[in-house]
Amino acid sequence: MPPVSRRVDRPALPPPRLVAWETTRACNLACRHCRAEALTSPLPEELDHGEAETMIRQISSWKPSPILILSGGEPLMRPDIFKLATLALDLGVTAVLSTNGTLLDRDVCRKIKDAGLRRLSMSLDGPDAKSHDAFRGVRGSFASLVSASELLRSEGLPFQINSTVTPGNIGQTEAMLRVAREMGAAAFHVFLLVPVGRARDWDEAFLAPEDYEKALRRLKTLEPDMGLEFKATCAPQYQRIGRETGLFSPRSGKGCLGGQGFMFVAHDGTCGACGYLPLSAGNLRERDIREIYSSSPLFLSLRDKSQYHGKCSFCEYWLICGGCRARAHARGDYLGEEPLCPHLPGAAGGSGRDPGSRRSTSPTPSDDAGPGPAPGSVLSAGEPSWSWTPSSPSPNGCSLTPSRTASRSRQGPTRHLPHDSPASTASPSRRTRW
Ligand code: SF4
Ligand code: SF4
Repeated sequence: MPPVSRRVDRPALPPPRLVAWETTRACNLACRHCRAEALTSPLPEELDHGEAETMIRQISSWKPSPILILSGGEPLMRPDIFKLATLALDLGVTAVLSTNGTLLDRDVCRKIKDAGLRRLSMSLDGPDAKSHDAFRGVRGSFASLVSASELLRSEGLPFQINSTVTPGNIGQTEAMLRVAREMGAAAFHVFLLVPVGRARDWDEAFLAPEDYEKALRRLKTLEPDMGLEFKATCAPQYQRIGRETGLFSPRSGKGCLGGQGFMFVAHDGTCGACGYLPLSAGNLRERDIREIYSSSPLFLSLRDKSQYHGKCSFCEYWLICGGCRARAHARGDYLGEEPLCPHLPGAAGGSGRDPGSRRSTSPTPSDDAGPGPAPGSVLSAGEPSWSWTPSSPSPNGCSLTPSRTASRSRQGPTRHLPHDSPASTASPSRRTRW
């Protein structure tokens, strides 16, 4: 891996605000939608301790340095995770932990505090044990989550709850919000699924665009009174809905941040725009992370509206939304239009120009959509959805990338349930097919 150099980015390009690192592919759960297709053991090609240290030093040389999201797999299954988090702390890099919560105990909480990790995120995909356990694939995971939230609260460690919306739980979103509030979460983030990893062949997990639109509009009206920080993650059209309804909040952040304020480092050092877009911008083992972020063809294309195709390329909301590049990629063109957005650009008489923007192409992250994420907002790892404030931390999710080479072996006493319930209620005609 190249050493930390004195080289700096081109002045026009600010550093990313968030870097999500897939610390390991190992995980003790078997979630149905896992982007990482996590395994019970780490993969041999994962960055070793020295390589991870070099990466963190490179990240710390960005000023201001981005927030580092330690994701996975399950990052607590990486033996040197606290040593690396402590290094980040010593170098002035704020780090947050995206965990499934099942490995937390008092001793781990102490280590989390000692390492200066500012927030944790955990996932809730149903408001009760039956629905959540079926989604997560392990009986007892709802009970573990409740215990983890009680532990974190008693330890004074702020946490965020992430929920993935599917046809099976869309009607329970408000119930999940209520559970997150009762657990004492600092933030509630909903995620729109991306068809990668284990979700790739799970058509039943996707709503029709009109149903996502309806759900996002409902959340937008609830947002002011939720009583906790809220974010719709990997739902870039939520920003458009904010503008259309007059409820736009600068704290909601930009829509898609992939390559425009956010980058993802996979377990083997491959860099990408986010964990759900399996396209390589370069590898840390060959190039400095700052060079990859500033000059890789992938990132340059994502920042250039003139390279986009389909309706996102002439949409008046491109600067605040941009469409999900990963879902567009799943349809065959990462610069194509977002498949889950029913908006017709210009249909209301608009010009197709981004409202309030100074220009319509090639924004830098600083002038993109204006607002960007709330200060300290962590996107989720795929993971662009973390929100973090100095007094509280952020989310987990699953992160990205392929590698279907290793086979899963069962570990420990957990029981994996048949994935039978989450997506069973939606009519096939109302689903999105990939
Ligand atoms: S999944 Fe990736 S590409 Fe899609 S909205 Fe999120 S950050 Fe952007
Ligand atoms: S058409 Fe594309 S850019 Fe416009 S609101 Fe929809 S997803 Fe966003």
